[in-house]
Amino acid sequence: MYCNYCGKVIQDDANLCPYCGRRVGTVAGRRKLMRSRVNRKIAGVCAGFAEYFDLDVTVVRVVWLIVALFGGGGILAYIIAWIVMPEEPEVVPVVPVTTPQPYQGA
Ligand SMILES: [Zn+2]
Repeated sequence: MYCNYCGKVIQDDANLCPYCGRRVGTVAGRRKLMRSRVNRKIAGVCAGFAEYFDLDVTVVRVVWLIVALFGGGGILAYIIAWIVMPEEPEVVPVVPVTTPQPYQGA
């Protein structure tokens, strides 16, 4: 695979790029049950499950709500998942936040 930051070819299972030292492979090799930072509504639990099982986050939320409303244990399960599931690490932005504006001419 290629490093997202410097573009060099690196080992497929590498966690760190040997050239620039940046952490790579978090996007492709992400198979850990973690609370999502991106799609969260409350704590990111449903989005974390959706990402883990490759499901639509809305489907997970609907199923979870149905379980919570009719089965009872859904809310408790959510709170337990909230506590035990680690939060996913903050994503390092590939594109710098401040991009220099092109020179407009005088
Ligand atoms: Zn690199």
